[in-house]
Amino acid sequence: MTQTPDWDQLLTEFRDGSQLAAVLDDEWNVRSATPELTALLGLDFTPGNESSAMEIVHPADHQKALEAMASVTEFEGLHPPSDYRVRNADGHWSSLDLAGEAISHGAILLHVNLVDERRRAEMLAVEQIEILETAVPGANIEQVAGLLVNMLERHVDGSIVIIHLIENGKMISVHSGAVDDAIANRLVGVPASAIQTVAPNLSEAAQRGFSYFEPFAADLPHWRTVLDGTGIASVVSTPAQDPNGNVNGHVEVLRFSAERPRNEELSVHGLVARLAGLLVDRYSFEQTLERAALNDALTGLGNRLRLTLRIEELANVAAPFSMIAVDLDQFTWVNNNLGHQAGDELLVSVAKRFSSVLPPGAEAFRPGGDEFVIVVPGERRSEAVVEIGQHLLESLGEPISVGPERRKVRASLGVATCRRGDSDPTRILARADAAMYAAKRNGGSGIRLFDADIGMKVSRKMELADQLGAAIANGQMGLVFQPMFNLASKHLAGVEALVRWDHPTLGLVGPDEFVPIAEESQLILELDEWVINEASTRLNDWYAHRDQLEEFGVWVNLSARTFERPGLVEVFQSFNAAIPLSLELTERDSFASFGDASDAIRRLTDAGHQIHIDDFGTGRASLHRLAEFDVSGVKIDRAFVDGMIRSDRYREVVQSIVELGQTLNISVTAEGIESLEQLEALTELGCGHGQGYLLARPMLRPALETRFGQGLDLGHALTISSGETY
Ligand code: C2E
Ligand code: CA
Ligand code: CA
Repeated sequence: MTQTPDWDQLLTEFRDGSQLAAVLDDEWNVRSATPELTALLGLDFTPGNESSAMEIVHPADHQKALEAMASVTEFEGLHPPSDYRVRNADGHWSSLDLAGEAISHGAILLHVNLVDERRRAEMLAVEQIEILETAVPGANIEQVAGLLVNMLERHVDGSIVIIHLIENGKMISVHSGAVDDAIANRLVGVPASAIQTVAPNLSEAAQRGFSYFEPFAADLPHWRTVLDGTGIASVVSTPAQDPNGNVNGHVEVLRFSAERPRNEELSVHGLVARLAGLLVDRYSFEQTLERAALNDALTGLGNRLRLTLRIEELANVAAPFSMIAVDLDQFTWVNNNLGHQAGDELLVSVAKRFSSVLPPGAEAFRPGGDEFVIVVPGERRSEAVVEIGQHLLESLGEPISVGPERRKVRASLGVATCRRGDSDPTRILARADAAMYAAKRNGGSGIRLFDADIGMKVSRKMELADQLGAAIANGQMGLVFQPMFNLASKHLAGVEALVRWDHPTLGLVGPDEFVPIAEESQLILELDEWVINEASTRLNDWYAHRDQLEEFGVWVNLSARTFERPGLVEVFQSFNAAIPLSLELTERDSFASFGDASDAIRRLTDAGHQIHIDDFGTGRASLHRLAEFDVSGVKIDRAFVDGMIRSDRYREVVQSIVELGQTLNISVTAEGIESLEQLEALTELGCGHGQGYLLARPMLRPALETRFGQGLDLGHALTISSGETY
């Protein structure tokens, strides 16, 4: 059995003449202290009354104390002093500089020093730096406020500190460890534990009893005595301000003394308040940036980035939820015909209506264009989610004013719920999207629940997307050619090259299915490049078999993304297309991209290629633009040709496009001619060229050459036959 050391003996032996010192045993109980220290702290350390050093040190400094003790035990010699808040005789805290030194028997000699003004100034400087370091971008403001509270409390002995910060109408309150429930209730109206967690709106705060701030929340620092039965005798309130002088918080120091605070004390309050003001201002700025980055400026709903973050968050917690994908029907029509401003107006109204019918907890996003996504948290039956969708649809019941008119807005909705054990949010979103497209194909204005049938399509799409790159590289792509005729002479005028994917297991896959997939990635560039190359090769071949160079063209469809790509002209040059191609640029998505592509278009036309606007009438190409871009012609969309026999309006549209062509001296080609009546009507209107199943289907090269000869002689007059099918 080891002998218990004589603690008092140890203290005398090692204290080295210093007046404030104590000896701790290996469990950090205070075993002996100098009379001066005992008097200072007002504590009794005689045998039987030993208290642990940890009971005397402020809880906020425990971590620091533990680390220091560990290092004292581990490394011999004297350690640098550090300041701690230590409980004093009246139960309040005062700052003391403490340093430990390992002596015999595993005991520690504690050197205690009073904190003088110089030391205080030093500490303040160090702490300011620490706080600024902690307040890095993205830092938690409550944490920073907590540091400020500690800093102030350390420097103003015997005080309790509460800091309130106001950001965007919201109040964040943080208090020191010394606030107990009695004080908190008395002053703030909530228990101590609630102060940190309560971050109410200011108006809410008033109702919750935060009204106490009113007398204190002045624009100038001030001191007032209080008598409220909690022992607090006076309060110093110092406003925090942003650089423009707007108050954005308050530093309240609750004092147990009714004496007027010393000037040094007040200047520390001022310093902390200034730091707080700056930090809140910076935090506000960050928040504003963040809000702007995550919210759609038009509707105020979360944007695509925010949706992505929300999806990540859902994936992390693996909580069940459902998604509703919404797409407005005919939004493009509004944008094109009533203008962007009307389109914007419509989106804002729709966002408002949706928000008004969302159940609690559900959140609406606008990831782009006329798409909306609703995230509904929690486990729900699909019927319940469909019902939410129904409410969204019903909210659009009343017509919405867009520009000068009021229009009934329709939408297609797709619903997907996350099933048990299957909560990959990206997949749920893909399912909701797929269901939404199914609803759209179904004629729009309806809700569709994701089911097995749609699931098959999604997995087919994913399979195609996976294999597309290799398919282009491995020669699975092929071209078919659809003849186009001069409607007056009935002679062959050219062929449109249409791409096909000869898939090893799925058979022939059409461009309507895989071009959109290619457009979702860079692969569209490779695909179009392959088509340009192949079409140029064929065209050179055909010309090699001809004796005259009449006006015959190979027409190639290019995606808008290809038109926008840098170096497009060089792509054509690299294939050394001796004979220029006719390039079809669809008007369907948006004519806006023509703006970015205008330079490329000019260079292509300079190189002799012709530009034709495909699907004319469905997008936003204006007359003005046609003239500006030196376009060679337009192709009237199949929908107009289809409608012109049934509807006079469509017939008039076709007629006006034909007339437009004559005025601007550009060629007009009608697509999708399927009946004799259409052919006759178009010929009668004076439409220059025609293309369609009635005249000829797209066909493989051998079939084409059998019909028109190896050089595709233009002498071949049109005979109406329904032969090849592709
Ligand atoms: P598009 O340029 O409007 O091509 C016309 C589409 O209508 C072709 O379908 C053609 O087979 C079809 N068609 C022709 N005549 C008739 C008719 O009388 N009645 C009906 N109902 N349809 C007719 P396809 O080949 O499936 O092409 C679909 C779309 O895919 C094309 O529309 C074009 O936008 C795109 N596409 C085709 N080939 C390429 C390509 O090589 N590159 C790019 N980027 N897109 C392509
Ligand atoms: Ca085309
Ligand atoms: Ca077309």
